Amino acid sequence: MDIAIIGAGAAAVGVLDALAADPRGRGSITVFEPSPHRWRGRPYGPDLDAVLVNAPPAIMSIRHGDFGHFASWLGGAGAAHLDALLERPLVPRALYGRYLEDTAEAATATLRERGREVRIVAERVTGVARTAARLSVTAETGAGAVVDQVVLCVGGGVPDDHYGLAGTRGFIADPYPMERTLGEIPPGSTVAVIGSGLTAVDVVVSLAANGHRGRITLLSRTGMLPHVWQRPVDRRPQHLTAGAVAALEREDGTVALDDLVALLRAELDTAGEDFAGFAADLLAAESEDQAERLRAQLGSVADPAIGRRFLQEAAHMLGPFAWRRLPEPDRDRLRRLRRLITGVASPMVPVNAAILLQLFESGQLGIVSGLRGVKPVDGGFHAYGDAGESVADVVVNAVNPLPQAVPRGAASLIESLIAEELAAPHPSGGLDPADPRVHVVGDLAGGGPFITSSIPGIAAQAASAVGAMLTGPSDRNPIGMPVAP
Ligand SMILES: Cc1cc2nc3c(=O)[nH]c(=O)nc-3n(C[C@H](O)[C@H](O)[C@H](O)COP(=O)(O)OP(=O)(O)OC[C@H]3O[C@@H](n4cnc5c(N)ncnc54)[C@H](O)[C@@H]3O)c2cc1C
Repeated sequence: MDIAIIGAGAAAVGVLDALAADPRGRGSITVFEPSPHRWRGRPYGPDLDAVLVNAPPAIMSIRHGDFGHFASWLGGAGAAHLDALLERPLVPRALYGRYLEDTAEAATATLRERGREVRIVAERVTGVARTAARLSVTAETGAGAVVDQVVLCVGGGVPDDHYGLAGTRGFIADPYPMERTLGEIPPGSTVAVIGSGLTAVDVVVSLAANGHRGRITLLSRTGMLPHVWQRPVDRRPQHLTAGAVAALEREDGTVALDDLVALLRAELDTAGEDFAGFAADLLAAESEDQAERLRAQLGSVADPAIGRRFLQEAAHMLGPFAWRRLPEPDRDRLRRLRRLITGVASPMVPVNAAILLQLFESGQLGIVSGLRGVKPVDGGFHAYGDAGESVADVVVNAVNPLPQAVPRGAASLIESLIAEELAAPHPSGGLDPADPRVHVVGDLAGGGPFITSSIPGIAAQAASAVGAMLTGPSDRNPIGMPVAP
């Protein structure tokens, strides 16, 4: 069986690793990737040391089912990157990229030892077509491959330009890699950052690492920061589990949001924690002063309460399965809380939270909420929000695209898959394979939730795609998520 893997970021590494782990496979593997930073994808290329991964090692393993894989690779080197509050290493994203490279190279070596040809084509794929009983993959300059299976690992989109500022002097449309983009910002200038999520946090922390002295303002519609990671605890969920969610579906053919909330409530009841107080604290994120909240959250990194930890875990581990089975009105209820939920599911790491708090306290950092617009004015920018008008010399776009956005480099490829009826657009975004020989790994998978896939989610999808290629779709894990880190 000949396989084409399109795109070589974390998802492709997960696929190669899962292929290498299964001795049943035969035939060639061709990987297409135009970027010079093969295996690292968009996030994990060379960048400033201040740009860190967003999760501790157990949640950064690209090997499905082996939560210690990244920690073993890191070994003693982790000590140099310890987050004192979290008590876990948080490495620079560029170092994590080396782990992905090493994992891909080890998998390639294993596959070659087993007699499988592994070819890397440094080109963008522009289309896939049916040819007799096989699939023909075409790359930009005409190189290609004729294969039996295609795995799309093309990643997500780039930030939207909500205010039409592209091309304006002083506007940074995409902040990564920060080493290059922020290096151009004069240290005394006033900087406005559009967004207040994890990318905005990366921008602020990187500006601080560069010794930026000017004022920094986060411009956001909600004015809400992500929550702060809490130290991992040994306790495992007993009620809000993959088995319980699958059982709900078996009973009713659907999964209702209220049932999921009841499972979370049962977890808190079992732990002797107050559910109403927990829910009220979460909702307060929408109105509380963000610096105060950050201070309180930094103070509770070691608090053993399980509510937020279990909710965070469930959002990633059970969310993609449950979301696809929720009735539409329940999905709408969650969409209305999108920003809050995203901030709980993907919190900032304590070391970054401490830097933000220090900048808030010194008065160098502020947040404008209710953002309505940003306009270029007299060589600078004016932003309009709840507190009136603010000015900036430089604007950095830290808006996150929706997870199912089509990556720019994959537009013609996806058009061709749809035209050939090999895949179909999902009504709520992303792509559904319409042929058992086509697989999607990563955020482009159709109908997924609004939370960007974490590394364990991507690793689980990769393992599931390899299982489907080797033994057919029945091998798929019904939850599609690892059950416990
Ligand atoms: C900035 C950022 C930071 C993140 N940090 C974390 C984190 O710390 N922890 C965590 O769990 N998750 C994190 N995530 C989420 C998730 O881990 C990453 O999004 C992950 O890298 C996704 O991997 P991917 O392979 O699906 O996509 P990508 O990493 O984007 O890789 C896709 C690759 O496909 C290639 N490609 C696209 N189109 C084509 C084509 N037509 N032909 C050939 N190749 C193509 C691209 O060049 C790219 O290299 C982060 C996401 C972002 C955006």
